[in-house]
Amino acid sequence: MNPLPLSSQLKQLLPRGRILDSPAQLAGYAADALGYKSYLPDAVVIPADADELVGFMKGARQLGVPVILRGAGTSLSGGPVAAQGGVVVHTSGLKRIREINVEGFWCEVECGVALNDLDAALKPHGVFYPPDPSSGPVCTLGGNVASNAGGAHCFRYGVTSNYVLGVEVVLLDGSVQRFGGPAGGRGPWREDWKRFMIGSEGTLGAFTRFWLRLLPLPEKVWTLRATYPDLRSIEAAIHALVAHSSYPAAIEMLDPRGVAMVETSQMAVGLPKGSFMLLLEIDGPPALVDARVGPVADLLRHAGSNDVVLSDQDAMRQKLWKARKAAGGLLGQLSPDYVVQDAVIPKSALADVLQLVYDEADAAGIRAVNVFHAGDGNLHPNFLFDSRVPGELEKVELISERLMRRVIEVGGTLSGEHGIGNDKSAYMPLVFGPDSMRLQWAVPAAFNPTHQLNPLKVFQNRRFAT
Ligand SMILES: Cc1cc2nc3c(=O)[nH]c(=O)nc-3n(C[C@H](O)[C@H](O)[C@H](O)COP(=O)(O)OP(=O)(O)OC[C@H]3O[C@@H](n4cnc5c(N)ncnc54)[C@H](O)[C@@H]3O)c2cc1C
Repeated sequence: MNPLPLSSQLKQLLPRGRILDSPAQLAGYAADALGYKSYLPDAVVIPADADELVGFMKGARQLGVPVILRGAGTSLSGGPVAAQGGVVVHTSGLKRIREINVEGFWCEVECGVALNDLDAALKPHGVFYPPDPSSGPVCTLGGNVASNAGGAHCFRYGVTSNYVLGVEVVLLDGSVQRFGGPAGGRGPWREDWKRFMIGSEGTLGAFTRFWLRLLPLPEKVWTLRATYPDLRSIEAAIHALVAHSSYPAAIEMLDPRGVAMVETSQMAVGLPKGSFMLLLEIDGPPALVDARVGPVADLLRHAGSNDVVLSDQDAMRQKLWKARKAAGGLLGQLSPDYVVQDAVIPKSALADVLQLVYDEADAAGIRAVNVFHAGDGNLHPNFLFDSRVPGELEKVELISERLMRRVIEVGGTLSGEHGIGNDKSAYMPLVFGPDSMRLQWAVPAAFNPTHQLNPLKVFQNRRFAT
């Protein structure tokens, strides 16, 4: 172990300007988007490029403290926080889009590129990268790959893992490994290790670069919004849509509490009080989607909506999306704190699980709002509370645990897209037995035997031991 103080050791690994250690600077890195759980790191480093990141990783073992990779810090699961102290590595310097290969339908990007910056760079080439978490303006591709992010259009297009062709990663010994590449495949290794890397939540190594699969931009998009008086009818609409040959790209839902939140805000769009809102998109060749949009609108009406609005014009489509897009931001404004759960359930259990959310939240006097990816059964109950009020956090944690137990009972699982982090690590044994947990634990242990990388994440007791 190096006897020098941490700040002196860091100065040996990186230029002085790349190290932050004043309390005011560190405070900005204490939490992710779940702001109520904060952990002050001992230091933050901001490598200017991949070479500096490699230099840091080469010396990191000697530091004797945890190392936590961080993109934009928009995680909703307590992922990029220093739960056991240590050094946060902010990847904002690695933000080059290195190549857009239109003929090959792939691009090569550094981990700190913001998702929407990639979208903007791809658009003029007539191609796109489908995963679209709502945090797109700021979240980074590094964070997306590490948490296997999803988004509104994943019902048809799939999640991040469906688009990662290759990963470059720096391990704790400073070695740089590539798994896959522009052509996909396994790279020099026999096993497809890039699959282990995707969703590894910063526990295996530091990603520097990715090769990502692109698709041609859809020629035409129709957006449809419908409201329903009750859960039974919106459920019928979702089931019919899932089975319909139009195969929507997105099927999103806002419950009446979410509708009320939007309609009592400055973002009001005139949705009927007490209604459930469904938003969907179909895309593809103009002749095909123009032929399909009528039957889809009929399907929505047949399920019980007398309020179906649709458009293929960009400005109007944005208006139809407004309530759904505004909801995330409003949650943060309405309440000092909120927790969003990320359970995936079989769609047949939607009414059962939503009712549990309402019953539990109402009994505890906690406000609950549901805004979610209904097509995937990816539920996002948001619990609004004030962590300064004694007992409120405990109430929310109890509701979350009961919710997760029910989710598992109905055949669901803990996370669809946000990852486990430290927020859901306590629930892992609800899904996985001891043998499965042992095997899963063996993966970070193989890459990182002392668990120096992002300890206390994914597995509740996965501590860094010096
Ligand atoms: C308003 C809002 C809406 C959201 N909507 C969605 C949504 O629709 N779908 C969705 O999936 N998520 C959503 N999220 C959650 C979040 O934006 C995603 O999880 C996103 O992928 C995190 O990216 P980030 O750059 O902020 O990563 P961070 O939060 O900084 O980190 C996330 C995880 O990635 C690891 N990590 C980051 N960079 C690297 C790297 N270079 N190498 C190794 N590990 C790394 C971290 O250690 C951490 O475990 C939303 C969040 C907010 C606040």
